[in-house]
Amino acid sequence: MKTCPKCGRKQEDSVITCDCGYDFTTEDIIKESSTISLPTSSSSKYPALKTISGIYKFLAWIVGFGSCASIVAFITLSTDIIYIVYSVIGGFFLVISLFAISEIIKLFINIEYNTRNKE
Ligand SMILES: [Zn+2]
Repeated sequence: MKTCPKCGRKQEDSVITCDCGYDFTTEDIIKESSTISLPTSSSSKYPALKTISGIYKFLAWIVGFGSCASIVAFITLSTDIIYIVYSVIGGFFLVISLFAISEIIKLFINIEYNTRNKE
């Protein structure tokens, strides 16, 4: 039997750590687990970028719906085929670009977040 110098509790000789947190091997009090800093969420670090990313995604949807509406309008009004082609190509690339920007911003946030964690 051995007595804990911190709390005075009697412990078996095989016991490594006392119930109070005292470590018999290092003769030190085990630090509270709460002192271990947990990485905070990336979402809280870049609220502006997240918002911009969201705006671009929202714009992409608006443009997408707008393009579809104009294509339907052009077809309905039986306008020159070239306007329909321009709407399809223009709308398509604009939507893709806006989605790409949105994804790149998210990618940037993730890369920065991962790089920070590795350090
Ligand atoms: Zn103790």
